[in-house]
Amino acid sequence: KPPRSLAKPTPYAERMNSPQAGQTRGRVEAPMTLEWPDLAAAQQPPWPDPIALEESLSQLRKMPPLVFAGECDQLTDRLAAAGRGEAFVLTGGDCAETFEANTADSIRARLQTVLQMSVILTYAASLPVVKMGRLAGQYFKPRSKTIETRDGVEMTSYLGDAVNSLEFEAGARRPDPQRLLQAYHASGSALNLVRAFTMGGFADLRQVHAWNQDFVRDSLAGQRYELMARDIDRALAFMQACGADPDEFQRVEFYAAHEALSMDYERALTRIDSRTGNPYDVSGHFIWVGERTRQLDGAHVHFASTISNPIGMKVGPTAAPEDIVEAARVLNPNNIAGRLSLITRMGADQVRDKLPAIVQKVDASGVPVVWICDPMHGNTRESASGYKTRLFDDVVSEVEGYFAVHREAGTFPGGIHVELTGDDVTECVGGTAGVEDGDLSQRYETACDPRLNREQSLELAFMVADMLIKS
Ligand code: PEP
Ligand code: MN
Repeated sequence: KPPRSLAKPTPYAERMNSPQAGQTRGRVEAPMTLEWPDLAAAQQPPWPDPIALEESLSQLRKMPPLVFAGECDQLTDRLAAAGRGEAFVLTGGDCAETFEANTADSIRARLQTVLQMSVILTYAASLPVVKMGRLAGQYFKPRSKTIETRDGVEMTSYLGDAVNSLEFEAGARRPDPQRLLQAYHASGSALNLVRAFTMGGFADLRQVHAWNQDFVRDSLAGQRYELMARDIDRALAFMQACGADPDEFQRVEFYAAHEALSMDYERALTRIDSRTGNPYDVSGHFIWVGERTRQLDGAHVHFASTISNPIGMKVGPTAAPEDIVEAARVLNPNNIAGRLSLITRMGADQVRDKLPAIVQKVDASGVPVVWICDPMHGNTRESASGYKTRLFDDVVSEVEGYFAVHREAGTFPGGIHVELTGDDVTECVGGTAGVEDGDLSQRYETACDPRLNREQSLELAFMVADMLIKS
């Protein structure tokens, strides 16, 4: 097979100095001309004080953008390559970011994990990897239950740090619109650090060993990674000796993604791009509509259809294929490649049954989509010890099923979307380190869903790389 490669990325300096970038930068206007129809919006936080909410929103409307339109367009191009089977998307990060974990150490560890996974995939499968983090904005959570009950005491469920606090205490669970501003600022500082890390030498390919730090280095996956990193070093040394030292080895493109859940927050951060006249949601590069809010006639789908960012929609096992075709038409009416990703999350036991009809109907409709597999959200279960958990084997099995379905349909497996952290947590069961049910209490730190730890993440990357080679 000929090697698949992405069009050469435009170097950062050139991008930022191009006349187009110059036209966009610093001239982003408030969304005066945007009007939002009054559609039903599921899963909106029950703000108790509308005046305080409006105060926060009016401040948000004046805030500078966190991302630029040109960056979003660039991501659309990258995703288009994944849709053609010429690149692979890797999205990873927390289920729910928290203000407390918005620290340099935590962000670096998550970034390192995604960079390591990306190197494994790139090196093994000779495929460019489009890197995204569930970060710098993943502060809102949809919930199956609006009320949480513990020992007979009822409280508003935790709805994400942008709304209320995880602490099971009445004051802490009261939705506070000041938190919207805090979420914006936390996102800005996280993204600033990510930009510094990815542009400032930390993501230099010559640092591949340095990302393999701490506990993970001694693990099986860490050792396997170390061997691969040695090969990469040798290849880099060879290229340098030949006089090649391309910009792409020193910096990486890294994009911020989150679920667009609060319509108030996302609308307040939507701006008309002065260069093109198109609206962009400047809260993040890529935003997606969740499984619980993808009603065709609802506010979320309409919102996503309005903005020009690349967008995603989660697709679960109860989805009717015709509805997904209709949603694809609504979300990508101009058939732009890379604009729409369908993030399927069927569950290991249903992916082989439910995914084929959806893939086949959407493919037949002619609307271009990027097929991404989220092997986490269809595989959540309660452990014997009472923790919400996921089995590593289920995660792997769903990805395998996803590859098999696309191979059969003749469509491209475009990427994976996983919940992970850079730390040595014990939230998902399995993997070669053998996290067991009884270990879950040791380091169960997630604010919402269970995440793969660093070792499990690397292990998954090696397995997905093998699947890619065979696909
Ligand atoms: C999530 O991604 O954390 C989530 C809630 O997913 P879904 O909408 O697929 O359930
Ligand atoms: Mn989740």
